[in-house]
Amino acid sequence: MSSRVGIGYDCHRLVEGRPLIIALTRVPFERGPEGHSDGDVVAHALTDALLGAAALGDIGRHFPNNDPRWKGADSRVFLEHTIHLLSEAGYRPLNVDAVVILETPKLSPYIDSMRAALAAALRLPLEAVSLKAKTAEGMGPVGEGQSIECHAVATVG
Ligand code: MG
Repeated sequence: MSSRVGIGYDCHRLVEGRPLIIALTRVPFERGPEGHSDGDVVAHALTDALLGAAALGDIGRHFPNNDPRWKGADSRVFLEHTIHLLSEAGYRPLNVDAVVILETPKLSPYIDSMRAALAAALRLPLEAVSLKAKTAEGMGPVGEGQSIECHAVATVG
């Protein structure tokens, strides 16, 4: 069976008064991502990676941010709908990998539960879901704590 790979990226500004949601998980912190949905950079980058692997467009095409259906949306819905779109096109996810970049807080205590949450949403075994966290070493907007980013890849088959 042949497989296909896709890439995804997302970033959001971090602002006060918003919950910090990363990889379908609430992380206690005083700021969170600005955005139309919950601003989950990992879910959004993975959605784009999965759509990209099947050449099905991108998150903006399927979940436009001017559509009231997606206002405040739990990004789990994006992943689950993407799985549905993949299946209609004859694909299913095989594995995903992502790196989330933010200066604080440290995500190491949450990584395993984040992987489990993503695996459940993507209907993948835990060993097919990888997530890493890095800081930006104090450099640029991410390093200054103004934003959060995620890069992701996914294979489908
Ligand atoms: Mg986003």
